Amino acid sequence: MGSVGDAGVPQDESRSNVMEVDVLIVGAGPSGASLACFLASHGIKGLMISNWPSTSHIPKANYTNMAAFECLRAIGLEEDAKKVAYPISQFSTYHRICKSLAGEEIYRAYAFGNDPHRHGDYSDASPCEIMSLPQRELEPILIRYATQNGFVCRFDTELAAFQQHEDHVESTIIDLVTGNQTLVRSKYLCGADGASSKVVRELDLPMNDRKGGGLSINLLVEADLTHLVKDSPGLLHVMTRPDLPQPYYGILGMARFIKPWTEWVIVLICRPGTTKITATTEEIMTRARELLGDDNVDIKLKNMSIWRTNECYAEQYSKGRVHCLGDAVHRHPPQNGLGSNTCIQDAFNLSWKMAYVLKGLANPSLLKTYNDERQPIGKYIVGRANDTGRLHFALFKTLGLTETDPSRKSEIAAQFEQDSPEAQVRRNAFRRAVKGLDEERHALGAEMNQAYESLAVYLDDETPESRATLPVDEHLYCLNHISSSTPGFRVPHAWLQEVGRAKMVSTKDLCGHGRFTILTGIGGKNKWQTAVAKTKETTGVGISIATIGWGQEYQDTFFQWFEKRQIEEDGAILVRPDLVVAWRCKQAPTEERVRQDKLLQVMRRILGFQG
Ligand SMILES: Cc1cc2nc3c(=O)[nH]c(=O)nc-3n(C[C@H](O)[C@H](O)[C@H](O)COP(=O)(O)OP(=O)(O)OC[C@H]3O[C@@H](n4cnc5c(N)ncnc54)[C@H](O)[C@@H]3O)c2cc1C
Repeated sequence: MGSVGDAGVPQDESRSNVMEVDVLIVGAGPSGASLACFLASHGIKGLMISNWPSTSHIPKANYTNMAAFECLRAIGLEEDAKKVAYPISQFSTYHRICKSLAGEEIYRAYAFGNDPHRHGDYSDASPCEIMSLPQRELEPILIRYATQNGFVCRFDTELAAFQQHEDHVESTIIDLVTGNQTLVRSKYLCGADGASSKVVRELDLPMNDRKGGGLSINLLVEADLTHLVKDSPGLLHVMTRPDLPQPYYGILGMARFIKPWTEWVIVLICRPGTTKITATTEEIMTRARELLGDDNVDIKLKNMSIWRTNECYAEQYSKGRVHCLGDAVHRHPPQNGLGSNTCIQDAFNLSWKMAYVLKGLANPSLLKTYNDERQPIGKYIVGRANDTGRLHFALFKTLGLTETDPSRKSEIAAQFEQDSPEAQVRRNAFRRAVKGLDEERHALGAEMNQAYESLAVYLDDETPESRATLPVDEHLYCLNHISSSTPGFRVPHAWLQEVGRAKMVSTKDLCGHGRFTILTGIGGKNKWQTAVAKTKETTGVGISIATIGWGQEYQDTFFQWFEKRQIEEDGAILVRPDLVVAWRCKQAPTEERVRQDKLLQVMRRILGFQG
């Protein structure tokens, strides 16, 4: 059994096929490996298995958003990840549609924070940057961190069966190299086993599955395309070739760089209704060459895979002692790049709750809030990615790319340049369809918004007027990040100056690190520290206090925090270990006793000790 790490050694000779661990994670992809990292950062040890021989050898997910980077930053992995990533600000300025990569451009639009009108919104939302970070490069970083901090990782190891008991789960795992079986007893089992999840199937979790999605072909190629793209760097180049017949296995193509500008994924979109691909590799590669449009480019195929668009999510993520995350519970196409980003955030949410329960600091009921908080997000992103896919098709339709009659397609292509009322209607329809795709290009809200409502968020002190709400209209929701210190929201980001250090820190950097944090201002520390000590005495849970303001540990030099905190100077914002606001108190109550009782009551509720 290929094994990395030093924990979880079988107990003794006579029971050499039995292991006892706190947590068994099935899957070592972005969900499983990041969960292992986050749990390890809380000091939890466990076993992670994967039935693959190694980490992914193909790039898979690439677009890594600020929300996911914030999770990596919280455990000190942001810099490692950035070393193998490419900033969107330099390498992915545009979304483009062109006739071929070497040919005429039909349109280009700014993407993500690169739009001068949107740049500030992005940099105001997070201390992190969006990056192109192939999953192939991220997975080894995660596995290294997890295995160096208390998790054992076993590849070539499959989950065969599991059974839940009152206080543990028994799982049978099989070493795929030797055929040996091991019985693993764990307090919790986590199903991070991807889109064909056995754990989800065995648990019989209710799935909402809109079947019938289309087929696409991913070609991972080596090809030096520098001369074609260096002056128009894009995350996505859509290639249409209106002048050529469209085979069913590639009515159009999309080129996305993996390594600038020599390694690429070319996605061929199949004609809607295609159920099987019988074309040869040679035919498929010929189509890819047509779409690139430069016969002088040497193209080496490294990998080919066929995938179907999914529109599927679990109605429930957990049952008993088993919790599922990632593609196991939400499956969708790559539009909006929400795949592995959501996996990492699922893991971040689950990890602190599981760690606190395992350490006896929280009631096991806290784990129920994982489902309450993350399932609505999973449902949303599945709909979002598929809606964006439909917007793509609406755009392709205006270009005539879904026409089956080649002459009609050429006619439509020619119409774009004509001086006629019909041509004007078509050009306007195209412009509207392009604008619609803002919901992918500038989907800051879809990536960053969240307003958790669960027992791990204390909203009793809020009024309808004080609470921030997210836009109901999907277009507004998707495009705009709503920053608020309302409980359930991400703690707002503001740059601060730490006394004695030149480097700025984010408010988010003051939180996390496995603990609860109170953010307060002048006068706040004195008022809250006794309440914090009392809470620690009663619950065993420590809360750190960070003070922001004139003459405090952190200076609000830009007055950004003043604008965002939405509390008075001596008020308190209580932040959970996953950087989510748990509770806020507008102004510190004058009586010591009231402050103590309130904080204790809030913490007991959040930790699951009061209904
Ligand atoms: C070709 C391709 C391209 C993609 N491109 C993008 C993209 O551009 N952007 C994007 O956001 N997403 C993309 N995705 C999706 C993205 O890769 C997934 O969202 C992400 O990998 C899901 O992570 P996960 O950890 O939940 O599952 P996976 O990465 O699928 O990992 C599943 C893990 O479970 C293990 N496993 C499964 N069953 C068992 C078992 N019975 N016993 C033991 N281990 C088991 C596997 O070995 C693996 O380690 C792409 C996917 C593919 C296949």
